[in-house]
Parts: sequence; structure tokens; C-alpha cells
Amino acid sequence: MNVVSHDFHHDETLDENGKVVVPGHVEDAIRTLLTWAGDDPEREGLSDTPKRFARAWKEYCAGYAEDPGLHLARTFSEVAGYDEVVLLKDIPFQSHCEHHLAPITGTASIAYLPRNRVVGISKLARVLQGYARRLQIQERLTSEVAQCIWDNLQPQGVAVVIEAQHGCMTGRGVRTPGVGMVTSRMLGCFLDDASSRKEVLALMGRG
Ligand SMILES: [Zn+2]
Repeated sequence: MNVVSHDFHHDETLDENGKVVVPGHVEDAIRTLLTWAGDDPEREGLSDTPKRFARAWKEYCAGYAEDPGLHLARTFSEVAGYDEVVLLKDIPFQSHCEHHLAPITGTASIAYLPRNRVVGISKLARVLQGYARRLQIQERLTSEVAQCIWDNLQPQGVAVVIEAQHGCMTGRGVRTPGVGMVTSRMLGCFLDDASSRKEVLALMGRG
């Protein structure tokens, strides 16, 4: 019996073990890829790989099924006059590059200067995950997270700095393990005012 889960992040047809049902043509496509890569998809070790691979990719791309801005819908205005930077530092994340489908692994620091409204601090990490669980380039991930906070909280400023390693660079191509790429997106006061920017970067440990 197929059941539709309502506690999952989006409605997905699940099998009797609660696992996502993988359509046959998706499994076939993965077998084709395995064969083309040089292996035998019929050997024992690979027999369940197409299903596992497909389900893993559904998870990596779970962000398509959500609107990350919804995490910021519930705000608190009782901030007792707090008018300093709110910073969530070094949040780990994994994404995948849209060019090679290779992992992008890194950390993000997300800050905003509130204008009367704040959100639960874990919500910033949820916004990050909502965009990271899609096919990305690091530059766009950085600006989407910043823009989402800017649009939904209408703060005085937003600063997002992401440092990440790209599997397509470390594991193939020029093979340069350990090299991190840094991107940043500043909006509002952090864009316009050099001393605010300096302050937030110092808080992030990037001063
Ligand atoms: Zn890539």
C-alpha cells in the first residue's frame, strides 16, 4: 500500500517501509550512467544502488519543495530595544553544484541588523538549508539567502559570508583539495556603511 506522508517536508508517495518510491525510468537512467562509467549495474554490490542514489538525490534537492522564506514568517517584535547585530556563525551545510552535481561543502555566517523584528535564530539556518538543498552555484546560494532575509524581515542590513569547498574542484579537474572559495553578499547598512561592514565581518571572524 502506498501512503502519502504528511509529516514529511513535502507530499511524496512512500512505500510500505516509508521510503520514497523510485520510478522505474529513474532507476534505468542511473543504471545507464553506471554502465557508461564502466561498471556493471547487475553485480551484487550495485543492485540497490540506483534506488539509493535516486532517494539520496531527492534529499539533496529537498529544497525545491519548500519556500525558504516561510521560515521567516513568524517574527518577534518584543526585542527590548535590542538594536545590535544578530549573527549565526559557521553554520555547516552541503549543497551540490549545478555544473557537475558534485558536493559543495562549507559553512555560512549569516547576520542581520534588525528593524524591530527578529526571528528564532534556528530559522536562519533553515533558510540556508532551503536554498542549499538545490542545485547551486555558491554565488547564487549566497545572494539568495541574503535576499530572502532582506525581503522577509526588512532589516536594516543583511550580511552573508559563505566559505565552501567544491567537489568538482577537489576531486576532479584541477584537483586542489583544501582550497576554499569565499563569497559574500551585503545588503542595506552593511553594503552602504563601511564601519558597519567592518564590524559584522569582525564578528564573523573575518575582520
Ligand atoms: Zn562544479
